[in-house]
Amino acid sequence: FPAENIRNFSIIAHIDHGKSTLADRLLELTNTISASGSNKQVLDKLKVERERGITVKAQTVSMFYNHKGKDYLLNLIDTPGHVDFSYEVSRSLAACQGTLLLVDAAQGIQAQTVANFYLAFGQGLEIIPVLNKIDLPGAEPERVLRQIESAFELDTASILKISAKASINIDQVLPSVIEKIPPPVGSRDKPFRGLLFDSWYDKYVGVVCMLGIKDGMLRKGDKVVSAYSDTKYDITEVGIMHPEQLPTGYLHAGQVGYIVCGMKSASEAHIGDTFHHLGQTVEVLPGFQPAQSMVFAGIFPVDTNDFRKLDDNIKKLTLNDASVSVHKETSHALGQGWRLGFLGTLHMDVFRQRLENEYDANIIVTQPTVPYKITYKDDSFKLVRNPADFPDLEERSFKVAKLQEPMVIATLIFPDEYMGKLIELCGTRRGEQLEYVYVDETRVMMKYRMPLAEVVTDFYDELKSRSSGYASFDYEDGGYEDSDLVKMNVLLNSKPVDALSVILHRTQVDLVGRDWVKRLKGVIQRQLFDISIQTALGSKIIARETISALRKNVTAKCYGGDASRKMKLLQKQKEGKKRMKMIGNVELPQKAFYDFMDKS
Ligand code: GDP
Ligand code: MG
Repeated sequence: FPAENIRNFSIIAHIDHGKSTLADRLLELTNTISASGSNKQVLDKLKVERERGITVKAQTVSMFYNHKGKDYLLNLIDTPGHVDFSYEVSRSLAACQGTLLLVDAAQGIQAQTVANFYLAFGQGLEIIPVLNKIDLPGAEPERVLRQIESAFELDTASILKISAKASINIDQVLPSVIEKIPPPVGSRDKPFRGLLFDSWYDKYVGVVCMLGIKDGMLRKGDKVVSAYSDTKYDITEVGIMHPEQLPTGYLHAGQVGYIVCGMKSASEAHIGDTFHHLGQTVEVLPGFQPAQSMVFAGIFPVDTNDFRKLDDNIKKLTLNDASVSVHKETSHALGQGWRLGFLGTLHMDVFRQRLENEYDANIIVTQPTVPYKITYKDDSFKLVRNPADFPDLEERSFKVAKLQEPMVIATLIFPDEYMGKLIELCGTRRGEQLEYVYVDETRVMMKYRMPLAEVVTDFYDELKSRSSGYASFDYEDGGYEDSDLVKMNVLLNSKPVDALSVILHRTQVDLVGRDWVKRLKGVIQRQLFDISIQTALGSKIIARETISALRKNVTAKCYGGDASRKMKLLQKQKEGKKRMKMIGNVELPQKAFYDFMDKS
C-alpha cells in the first residue's frame, strides 16, 4: 500500500458514547469480522473491560476498504478513554493523523470528550466530529451541535449523524475518514523508526508490541534497538492486527502493526519508546516519558500462608501491565505485603478486580495515597508513597523544610441546576476555581485546581450523587504545590495501626478524625471485650469512640429451634469473616481499610 492509501485514525469519546459499538460496525462493514451476533465489542478483550464497559488496554485493528475504486488500508487505533491512562492515550494518538470525536446526541459533550479533544488537538490531529445515538428518542442533535461549536470551534456544517447501534449512516464514516484525514507522512527510503504505543503479554509468544512505522521498513529477522533502554532485539514476527495477529513479513512507513521480539516482560516495552535498526542512529520520536504511578496502595494477603501464591499472581499480572509499580512492604499490623503504584484509582480497582477474578485472591487493600514530596532542612529530599514513611508531628516540626502534594486541573461538565452543590463539593475538597463557562444554554463547564489526594478518595462518587449522575469529570496533571500536611494515626485499644494512618491537610484533621472513628465503629464487630477507637495527631487525640463488649450470642435471637434460620445466621457470620484481619486481638474487615467494594 502506498502511503496515500493508508489512514491511521482513532475514535475518542466519553465513556458509553458508543466507541466500541461503532468500532464493531466498522469492522463488520469492512468484513474484518463477520456481522453475525449483535454487539461483539471486539476491541474490549479482557473480562474486566466487558464487565465494566471500559477500555483498559488499547486494541488496534487494520481494515481493508474500497473507496471510489481505490483500495485503502485503514488502521483503527483504539485509545483508552479514561483519565488514568492519559499518557497512553496521547501515545496512541501520536500514531494517528486524525480522529473521530464521537458525541452522544442525547447526553452531549462530557468531561472526557473535552479532555480527549484537547489531547488530540494538541497533537495537531484532524478532528472529525460525529454525533452518535441519533436513534434515541431523547436525542437533541441541534443542541449538541451548538455545544460542539462553542466548546471546540469545530465546523459542524457537514457533521455525521449516526447510530452505531441501529446502523444508521455507518456507511458515511469511512469515506469521511479517507477524505478528511491526511495520509501518514514519512519515507520508506529513510532509516527505520518506529513508535511503540502499546504492548501486551501473550501466553504463547510472550510480549507483543504495537508500532507505528514512522520511516523506513521493518522486516522479520531484522535486529532492532530500543532508544530508551539501548536493548537489542531480534524481530521474530511482524504483522498487522486483522483483527487477530496476521503475519505479513514486513511493515513499511505509514503502517501500524505488531512485532514479536523476545521481550520477557511487559516492563521492557516502554510506551512512547522509539525503535530503530541496530547500527543506525536516528532522531528519537518526541515526547517519551515513563508512565508515572500517582496512586499507591498496600496489598496484603488476608491469610499469611497465601503470601507466596499472591506474590506469583502479582508477578503474572504485572507481566501484562508495566504501568503497575511493585515494592515489597512490611506492616506491623498486616505483615508482609506489597506497595503497588497505579496510574489512578480506576487502574487500581481494575488491577484488584483482576487479581480476584483471575487468581481467586483474598486480599486486604489499604486506603490509596498519592506521592508527597518532602524537602528536609538539610536539603535532602524524599518522595513518600506510604503514610508509614511520613514524619510524625514532632519529627516534622524540627526536620522538615517543605512539604508538597500533587495537584490536578479538573474539568467538570453538568446541568447548571447542580452548580451550587458542586461548587460546595469542590470547595470542601480544597479546590480553587479557575474558570466557568456555559457550553450551551443550561450546561456549565467548570475548571478547578485541586489536590490529587482529594480526587482519589470518594470524590467521583460524591460528584455523581450530588448531581444525580449528571456531572462528568476528568482531570490532567497540575504539578506540585506547597501544602501544610500532617499524618493522622488510628489507635485501636491505644495501639497505633500503621496500615490505617493517613496523610491529611491540617485543616481537615478534625473533620476526618471524627468521621473515621464513627466509620470504624460501624464496621468493626462487637467482641467479648470493649474496643476503643481513637484518631490522633502525634500525641494529641482528636476523636474517640468505644465499641462495648458483646453480651449475647448471635444465635440467641433465634427463638425456639428454628434450625435453618440458625444455620443461615451462622453462615452469614462466617462469610462476614472472610475478609477479616486480626489486628492485636481486634478483628478488622476490609471495609476498615478502604471501602472500594461499594464503588461502581
Ligand atoms: P463506549 O464506552 O464508548 O465504548 O460505548 P459502547 O460502545 O460500549 O456503548 C455504550 C452503550 O451505548 C451500549 O449499551 C451500546 O449498546 C449503546 N449504544 C452505542 N451506540 C448506540 C446508538 O447509536 N444508539 C443507541 N440507542 N445506543 C447505542
Ligand atoms: Mg468501549
